[in-house]
Amino acid sequence: DAAIYLFVRVARLGARYILLLAEDRTESYRLEEVRRDFVANISHELKTPIGAVGLLAEALVSASDEPEQVKRFAKRLTKESERLARITQEIIELSRLQATDALTRADLVDIDHVVAVAIDQNRVVADSHRINLVSGGDAGAEVFGDETLLVTALHNLIANAIQYSPEGSRIGIGVSQRDGIVEIAVTDQGVGIPEDELDRVFERFFRSDPARSRNTGGSGLGLSIVKHVVQNHGGDIRVWSQPGNGSTFTIRLPEANRAVGASLGAHA
Ligand code: ADP
Repeated sequence: DAAIYLFVRVARLGARYILLLAEDRTESYRLEEVRRDFVANISHELKTPIGAVGLLAEALVSASDEPEQVKRFAKRLTKESERLARITQEIIELSRLQATDALTRADLVDIDHVVAVAIDQNRVVADSHRINLVSGGDAGAEVFGDETLLVTALHNLIANAIQYSPEGSRIGIGVSQRDGIVEIAVTDQGVGIPEDELDRVFERFFRSDPARSRNTGGSGLGLSIVKHVVQNHGGDIRVWSQPGNGSTFTIRLPEANRAVGASLGAHA
């Protein structure tokens, strides 16, 4: 784990001296490893839905004179291709976020608006499960950042909360402002996360066994996208959970300092 990669160059300086140049390449080796893992994981994750699409297409052809069968296979085909499209979209999003630590835009973002949009985007699915989305807390919080990315992050947290919650339950989205920090907490009454998996849920492609076996159609990329967005905004994300009782994911972001922002803007 603690290996250091040194790139060493040796040169002779005349008869009496040797010049040794050592360059620490640990970070670039690590990044290369991360990239290789990512590509390997992508290939693995895409194989399953692509294989399923192929099999379903074959099944459709051979069932062509049985309308009921055709309907059933076509439905599953649609579902698998939607899943494929979603995973691809998430992979693109994540690799874009991983490519840079810096934000390409930093506007003054109204958190109430972010919450309203993210809730709106999840409303139809929540309603179909009779899940109540309730928002509240401090109004008027602002941060500097990329509104679209922040909406994506909160959207993912709410979508997960819905995904892993029972029919008729409640999901709270609370905003609070304290000591220069804006906190957005998403609390559900769902299945929860076992303690030994709490650290791992933010890893790329990580899905817990129950999630996999319920075949919820996820990719295991949602939370790692959230983590990247939050880190790019200079914030962090925490999770608290009690298996069987629910989970709370809390995003913490530095509150916008209008004075600093204004002077930055003036020099930009
Ligand atoms: P996905 O939901 O596509 O599987 P995520 O990266 O969003 O991928 O989440 C990773 C895993 O974390 C999920 O598979 C699930 O096991 C767990 N998880 C995430 N959010 C919740 C939640 N609100 N309640 C319970 N488990 C969750």
